Amino acid sequence: MRVLMISDHADPTSLTARTPTPLTTGSHAAGGQNVYVRILATELARAGVRVDIFTRRSSADAARTDTIAPGVTVVRLDAGPPGRLPRDSFLDVLPEFTDALCEHVNGQAFTYDLIQSNYWFSGIAGLRLRDLLGVPQVHMNCSFGHLRRASYGEWRNEFYAIREDAERRIARSVAATVVSSAWEGRLVRERFGADPDSIHEIPIGADRGFRPADRLGARRRLGIDERGPVVLFVGRPELRKGLMTLGVAWQTLRDRHPGMTLVMVGPDEASLAEDPKLRPLSDLLLEDPAPILAGPVPHTDLIDYYNAADVTVVPSHYEPYGIVAVEAMACGVPVVASRVGGLQDIVADGVTGLSVDPGNSTDLANAVSEIVAGKLGPVPLKAAVTRYRSHFSWARATPRYLQLYSDLVKSGVE
Ligand code: UDP
Repeated sequence: MRVLMISDHADPTSLTARTPTPLTTGSHAAGGQNVYVRILATELARAGVRVDIFTRRSSADAARTDTIAPGVTVVRLDAGPPGRLPRDSFLDVLPEFTDALCEHVNGQAFTYDLIQSNYWFSGIAGLRLRDLLGVPQVHMNCSFGHLRRASYGEWRNEFYAIREDAERRIARSVAATVVSSAWEGRLVRERFGADPDSIHEIPIGADRGFRPADRLGARRRLGIDERGPVVLFVGRPELRKGLMTLGVAWQTLRDRHPGMTLVMVGPDEASLAEDPKLRPLSDLLLEDPAPILAGPVPHTDLIDYYNAADVTVVPSHYEPYGIVAVEAMACGVPVVASRVGGLQDIVADGVTGLSVDPGNSTDLANAVSEIVAGKLGPVPLKAAVTRYRSHFSWARATPRYLQLYSDLVKSGVE
């Protein structure tokens, strides 16, 4: 089988970058979608499926094609002005991107059996290709316009109207929508009007290397205090990740637990200083003991960070899924997460972590203290690893994608 994957702005190679660039995962521009696309493609290829991932060429240095794993090729298409684009400006270059994609596909000696589109721009491009090739399209939303708008208090009415209209059209037109949680399934059904039979719930797992490992070794390699409790945050430096809530909670936690370390992966001083919405956080975090701001970290290096931690916090205001919570669970690390979006289906409250109200720094601090005091048991938490392996791992997800793809291809549904 040959799959055409579209990931408009999220280049899967960002995961491996060693030198932080604007596209390194964990920087402002790259996150969960980059991770998902790369792992899904690699997993499919391990099972013998050939995958070509089409994305926009966002840097003049980037090669036009890259083989990133056996059977997985990234094809970068020129669309619009050279260089990086703010994400929403992709709308302006979408027609050009789609034309380039159709032209590329038309010029090849082979064709594809199925399209997997990710994010709404790719969904629209996918609909045109689906009509061109006459093959089924499977869509993953990755994010939802109305939730993002609400969490930022944005009023770009025209943009969000276009986006929601497209999200609805995609949900009603594609052969299948893959959702990563029950919460997301309800949203796609109730808000976008997708046919319930076209919705397939397949959770996103963690990269296969994420598992419990020696905590002292991990702390030594990272230069983190070997005795005190370690709280970990992993995420892009964005306000909606709940960074202000965490900053305020940290004021309480550092007084309450002398010797506690907060490690923040993703944000660094520069990214906090450059975003006016995050600048107050830099002030909150300056006082001693200040958190370790690790900045963007290459994806597989994160395994040490998770294994060094006693608890991972995900204080997001909204979160369509929350791969970070899944990665922590895979390593047996308890999670304190906001009761929002897919996080509600990932965290088993009181068993693998604690759910808290978004934006409530007192709740967040108290939940971290309870976990550090041993409320859920010793780390690595067996219950977390068991739940990860039985519900979330790629070892379970990949066969379900393969089954879905092969059913669609056999039935000839478009
Ligand atoms: N990530 C990373 N390096 C970093 C920060 C984050 O590889 O420095 C990865 C993280 O491990 C996770 C993804 O980026 O796989 C973030 O996904 P999530 O669903 O939590 O958030 P999103 O970025 O989609 O908002």
